[in-house]
Amino acid sequence: MHMPRLHAFALTSVITLAGIACSAAPEQEEDATNTQAFTACEDGFELDITAPNPAYAWTPNAVTLMSEELSSGVFAIYDQNAASVTKDGIPAATSGGFVIGDDGVLLVETMINRQLFCQTIDLVRAQTDLPVLYAVNTSHHGDHSYGNAFLPDDVQVVQHRGTVDFITDPDAFAGDIAFMKANFGADQGIDESSAVTADVIVDDEGWSVDLGNRPVEVLHIGFGQTDGDLFVHVPDANVLWSGNPIVARAPALPWLLDGHAREVRETLASLETLFPGATLIPGHDTAIAVSDTDFAVRYLDALIASVQASIDAGMTLDEAVAAATLLDYQGYALWGWVHAVVNVPATYVELSE
Ligand SMILES: [Zn+2]
Repeated sequence: MHMPRLHAFALTSVITLAGIACSAAPEQEEDATNTQAFTACEDGFELDITAPNPAYAWTPNAVTLMSEELSSGVFAIYDQNAASVTKDGIPAATSGGFVIGDDGVLLVETMINRQLFCQTIDLVRAQTDLPVLYAVNTSHHGDHSYGNAFLPDDVQVVQHRGTVDFITDPDAFAGDIAFMKANFGADQGIDESSAVTADVIVDDEGWSVDLGNRPVEVLHIGFGQTDGDLFVHVPDANVLWSGNPIVARAPALPWLLDGHAREVRETLASLETLFPGATLIPGHDTAIAVSDTDFAVRYLDALIASVQASIDAGMTLDEAVAAATLLDYQGYALWGWVHAVVNVPATYVELSE
């Protein structure tokens, strides 16, 4: 449930009632457009942008977020350095965004910690006083969902059933917290989060909502990176959020943390057919054209072919890693980890089964 929206009106004229002039407006009429309170971002919270820690791919508390209006009322949110760093093959912070309808706002991603969550809310509030009605997490990964802990109760959290199953499993959730602290630092407020279960559980058929002359589709297309990936599409603007299945523009590569190279390849290859001409906001970049995702598909084709050839030749995993040089795809700053430590071993196991 969400609070009914109160309409502000200016009491600038002098009201005469029974011959008595009265110009005093009730004080509560101030800021009456929206009663939704983001208390996690008030009550002593102050933004404190730090210097980046070179030990991390990106440092959550060093990030300044910005928004970009891609279509009327459709905003991407991303690290203000995203376009320049991803062009050079360096990871950027989590991207998200928001969609504004006549009745309220749908948020895409809630970010990794309080500071990035509150920056997100500030960017929404810079555009509209309408209430945030929904927050969609494209996956269970903490950098897309830990901010759920800071949402007011009147915001409906939207997750795929696979994401719900992960977040409500205490061991799995604790494992994700540990992974995020290992990769982003123990000093980034990650421990402040807690498991928040969905109000709207999306099955494989997907879910849609009308925000008021503004339909939004929340779709499960197939395995993209996790068991429970959601894509968010605004049909009248043809804007699509992919979450992590598309991490960033080339030369970024898919991160097959949960394997399934062949299914990921099929999911990504279907995007251009399902959303022709779409503007796509990757999980960690500024907007690209949906056709730009072909780099990731071609990489997966090359990865699968290389690992299959190694298995057919009777190679060990180490030999398969050494053989999978894929020279056309080495521009990503995380190549040595994503390709050699994550993607080749996961695909070797998958194709050996
Ligand atoms: Zn991410």
